[in-house]
Amino acid sequence: MEKIPSHDVTPNPVGHHSPSSETVSQEMYAKRRHIYVREIKGVFQKLRRSANWALMLAFFLLPWINIGGRPLILFDLPSREFHIFSATFYPQEFILLSWLLIICAFGLFFITVFAGRVWCGYTCPQSVWTFLFIWLEHRIEGSRNRRIKLDNQPMSADKAWRKGAKHTAWLLIALATGVTFVGYFTPVRDLVTDLPTIEAHGWSYFWVGFFLVFTYLNAGWLREQVCIYMCPYARFQSVMFDRDTLIVSYDETRGEPRGHRKKSLSHLEAREAGYGDCIDCDLCVQVCPTGIDIRDGLQYECITCAACIDACDSVMDKMGYPRGLVRYTTENALEGNKSHIMRPRLLGYFAALVLMVGTFAWAINDRMPLNFDAERERTQLYQMTRDGQISNVFSLTIRNLDDQDHTYQLSVAGLPSLTLDSHTISVPAGASRLEVVTVTASPDDLQQPSHAIVFTLQAQQDADIRLERETSFLGDIRR
Ligand code: SF4
Ligand code: SF4
Repeated sequence: MEKIPSHDVTPNPVGHHSPSSETVSQEMYAKRRHIYVREIKGVFQKLRRSANWALMLAFFLLPWINIGGRPLILFDLPSREFHIFSATFYPQEFILLSWLLIICAFGLFFITVFAGRVWCGYTCPQSVWTFLFIWLEHRIEGSRNRRIKLDNQPMSADKAWRKGAKHTAWLLIALATGVTFVGYFTPVRDLVTDLPTIEAHGWSYFWVGFFLVFTYLNAGWLREQVCIYMCPYARFQSVMFDRDTLIVSYDETRGEPRGHRKKSLSHLEAREAGYGDCIDCDLCVQVCPTGIDIRDGLQYECITCAACIDACDSVMDKMGYPRGLVRYTTENALEGNKSHIMRPRLLGYFAALVLMVGTFAWAINDRMPLNFDAERERTQLYQMTRDGQISNVFSLTIRNLDDQDHTYQLSVAGLPSLTLDSHTISVPAGASRLEVVTVTASPDDLQQPSHAIVFTLQAQQDADIRLERETSFLGDIRR
């Protein structure tokens, strides 16, 4: 297999772990090493867990919430209706969704320039579900050391039930995730009653199964491999970093030379004995979900979860040393330079974000909560009535995008003698209705085979809700 040169960072004989410049060869594709993540408590872990629970709660609860009998969020693909926070959107309004996605992308760029991969560590679904699975693993199989021991011991009743319980718990979470995810696309109450009775749609079974397997594999087995090898964001986020981006970093100047020492040595005595503040306890490595050593410098595998900060701070507390040997900082601050929060790149992203959010808010506010299409009957272009009038039949698809019921007044204009057989149409909030209407005109008005006419829908309760659609009226002028 191809070899690549790398620097040896193994500890030197005196126990001080300083990087050596000696070049060695190693395998280009490292064999996966199982990571036994150690649980750690601390300020950042509290913050991360709170964010994780809040996001999970939102994910599992949102599809169940109905307001005024309408789902809060439902992407109803068969009906081509997207209910989002009491508003209904149709495929014609996909431009708004595109805007929303662009805003999210810019939001992510902004956050990355400002605080690095904070999205990955605190809110990315891959991290959230992986941390949940690790949490369950810890509850069922025990601490890191017990898990290592358990994996190395031969199969026993204790090992079998613990492994069985863990995988069952993972599969149940994965199943709940799959059902919930599909519940965003089909009414979740119907889904949970139809799935066990084999009355759900075939595609529902497929997607529930797909997301069950996807969640189980990604959060249970692949874990950090997804972040390191599969996630495209991990690859391009480094180009967004600058010297003022917030990163999790080890203070090498303060920590080196690292080494074990007697706990009875005071901070000053340790300094006088030639030690830096790092006691080389490896705790920061043991808590890292991607298995890296933050003391090796900024690495693209780091998801900025800050577990190593909490771990190191707990060690510093025990040793009576000041906290912050591993901390959130910037490259400039580490080198003793001034960090700049307000910098052109960040301000540029911020300005673009504000502009886009403003435009989006304006577009939503200005959005007409009504949509309709008028299509002429295709089988018969026009008809001659008994009293000698020319009639055209149109199908109107009316969509009430508002969060309240409406009755609309329908009118048509374009020819002096135009008349309609239907004038008022009621459509419940968020619903659509197909209305077939017949428009008649006097043959005396028809000077050509096709005349432009305009349908107007006007909400009776709200003068601002008014929409026009232009179409054509056909009639034979060869009389
Ligand atoms: S936790 Fe702190 S003291 Fe321990 S090895 Fe890591 S950096 Fe050094
Ligand atoms: S190095 Fe620290 S911040 Fe980065 S992933 Fe590991 S534990 Fe999290």
